[in-house]
Amino acid sequence: MKVLKFGGTSVAHADQIKQVKDIIADQASERIFVVVSALGGITDLLIKAAELAASRDAGYSDIAREVEKRHIETIKKLIPVTKQSGILSKVKAELNTLDTLLEGAFLIGEITPRLLDRIVSYGELLSSFIISQFFVSEGLDAALKDSRELIITDESYGKAVVNIDVSNSNCQEYFKKAKEAITILPGFVASSSEGNATTLGRGGSDYTAAVIAGALNAQVLEIWTDVSGMYTANPKLVKQAKAITHISYEEAMELSHFGAKVLYPPTIQPVLDKGIPILIKNTFKDTDPGTRIELNKEDGHTVRGISHVPSIALLTLEGPGMIGIPGISKRFFEVLSLAQISVVLITQASSEHSICIGVADEDAALAEKLVNEAFEYEIAASKIKPVIVEEDLAIIALVGDQMKSHQGLSGKMFSTLGKNNVNIRAIAQGASERNISAVIRKEDVKKALNSLHEEFFEENIKQLNLFVMGVGNVGSKLIRQIEQQQQYLKKNLKLNVRVIGISNSRTMCFDEEGVPLKKWEELLANGQKADAVEFFNKALEFNFRNSIFIDNTASADVADIYENYLENSIAVVTCNKIACSSDLDKYLRLKEVSREYNAPFLFETNVGAGLPIIDTLKHLIASGDKVRKIQAVLSGSLNFVFNNFDSDNTFSEIVKRAQEEGYTEPDPKIDLSGIDVMRKILILARESGYSIDIEDIKNQSFLPEESLNTKNIEAFYASLERNEKSFQEIYTRAEKDGCKLKYVAQFEDGEASVGLQQIPEGHDFYKLEGSDNIVLFFTDRYTEQPLVVKGAGAGADVTASGIFADIIRIGNF
Ligand code: ADP
Ligand code: ASP
Ligand code: MG
Repeated sequence: MKVLKFGGTSVAHADQIKQVKDIIADQASERIFVVVSALGGITDLLIKAAELAASRDAGYSDIAREVEKRHIETIKKLIPVTKQSGILSKVKAELNTLDTLLEGAFLIGEITPRLLDRIVSYGELLSSFIISQFFVSEGLDAALKDSRELIITDESYGKAVVNIDVSNSNCQEYFKKAKEAITILPGFVASSSEGNATTLGRGGSDYTAAVIAGALNAQVLEIWTDVSGMYTANPKLVKQAKAITHISYEEAMELSHFGAKVLYPPTIQPVLDKGIPILIKNTFKDTDPGTRIELNKEDGHTVRGISHVPSIALLTLEGPGMIGIPGISKRFFEVLSLAQISVVLITQASSEHSICIGVADEDAALAEKLVNEAFEYEIAASKIKPVIVEEDLAIIALVGDQMKSHQGLSGKMFSTLGKNNVNIRAIAQGASERNISAVIRKEDVKKALNSLHEEFFEENIKQLNLFVMGVGNVGSKLIRQIEQQQQYLKKNLKLNVRVIGISNSRTMCFDEEGVPLKKWEELLANGQKADAVEFFNKALEFNFRNSIFIDNTASADVADIYENYLENSIAVVTCNKIACSSDLDKYLRLKEVSREYNAPFLFETNVGAGLPIIDTLKHLIASGDKVRKIQAVLSGSLNFVFNNFDSDNTFSEIVKRAQEEGYTEPDPKIDLSGIDVMRKILILARESGYSIDIEDIKNQSFLPEESLNTKNIEAFYASLERNEKSFQEIYTRAEKDGCKLKYVAQFEDGEASVGLQQIPEGHDFYKLEGSDNIVLFFTDRYTEQPLVVKGAGAGADVTASGIFADIIRIGNF
């Protein structure tokens, strides 16, 4: 004998009810009990109609009409025309009584809990009647039995308590007498011993089915719903969640207590006592295996699932009078229990001076009022403060039987939340050590669930969410590289890199699922108007874990927003040198904010494009070395210029070529004047631990004064042309001396300088080709022979790959 329960989501419409019939017909060789919920959404409508009626809003009757329409339509689609009239008239008669009840509430302007239960019970009474008639019309040996005659409760309306002994014997007696193969019963509804209609609490049809299964010692209780089992987290919020194949009763109870709505929490008890397994199955994918809930089987799992209660409030009672006065907590809990307000969680923030508990959001106002009334005397005497209520919170809980025997899970949980800037308001650990729960802000729920799921269930696949600003030379190459590497990164590095937002100076576009990178240009061109602040706001709104802002611009305004990103735990990766080479205070502040908020701030491409210069320096310093001297050729653009400039070409032509080939900054004067090199040596000195500013660097520029003073790019080129002679002189002098021209940056004893130098043959810098860079680090460990990093130091492709490397560093962080 089996009990099957079909939820509102499985019987919402006629087509779905037909699927339910097929499932049942397949099992009809044995005796079955089928418990059904109201047609999906009907209970909500009935509650709404009752509330409107009670507040004298005539709109209640529109809702009553909608309820009527749904049922009539369902009958017309399920039952052959010739058999419809009797069924329609019976249902209409029931609906008329419902109308009368609602009208009564409307006229009095009030609704009692008892009347409300009577009204909402129509949902299940009508659905079970229609479904049983449909089954009979399809030739099944089915009969309807009213659960109100079997399940007897007390009179706590809205969530009545079942008298198990009486209900058990009623069920057993009925079972003995009944002849039909399939018994259909309404879920959720029951009656008090005085004969009044009661209900078992929202989601309570599961419980009806469990009580019947327990009473009849069923071989299995099957809960049929719209998902393929109990998942590792709510599948509507966590795409990667998976159905759990086996789970213990206790784990299932804990997950459902903390919000896994797929099973109503009290459901477990009646079947647990008898050892009856529960199977959760998907009505719409009936071949999926689903979840089996049964006695604990140890299989090495620690965390079995993650649940959340989406909206709760914390109540804190505190004051000097709490110490030493016995019975305060007893009174506190008693007043809540008398009002049937359930305490969802007691936090570890509770102490002798204070008690802190969580209740459902909708109970908060009443709880506040009742507690303040109960402690009126102590509050008036300033022994206790009025209760503090914090709303808009949620609970997130890790659940697993084996968690208690594993150390470090809570550490992992809290550091994962911390890294993602999920603020933890309170913590609780169940006495059974089967759960660890945290109270967080409501708006962080999705991010928290996904980051914890990633950490505990996803074979370490980590999602990185990128917000890319600037898609010129470098940015567009970066996007191409990401597109090409996406599959490789997923497979080999377990990184799922998604670009969520893209912006250039004109437009910006976003996609919550990741912008499809094959057509990003088209999507961007059709995007909304660009705005750097709005771009930042969007990144905040998405509130994704592992978010990274990428700046491929050379804009000071964009650099000004880094701090805001970091303060919201969004990492920043940039090839823009402005932030690190402006005020020392600003640079130090960004570093500090990055540490404080656990948000990496990486700018490897600020020096030497993709070459691992800053990263190497960081490792030297972290391992205790000290930088004494740096000598470097750091301008790929100047190197390109002086490697190509000779008596056959004019200086301005070569500069133009460098610009066209992407070797210069957008404004070539920044390179030619040496400012770009100054910024780079400044950053290296700062990263080496020295406090210097750009004004401290000596710059002996080779440019004539008039070129330095030009106001725009055109004027700059014109002045280069006018001064061709002086450039030729510089070239000829070097050639005569057998030297090459290199723009050298130097840092020693806290002093930095940059300038054009003649490099003789045999020097480390002499053979530097094309746009190559070279850096020599002389340190306490590398004294005679420096540590050398050398290679292509400019160009969009290598710069993009340097940014990409920073992104991957964050992925491995
Ligand atoms: P029914 O109408 O069948 O009773 P419910 O809506 O009460 O269905 O429960 C099923 C829903 O529970 C799913 O659609 C899903 O959104 C939600 N849910 C929340 N947490 C979980 C979880 N851990 N596993 C599966 N479903 C969950
Ligand atoms: N129909 C009721 C509700 O929506 C009971 C149930 O579906 O389990 O809460
Ligand atoms: Mg349900």
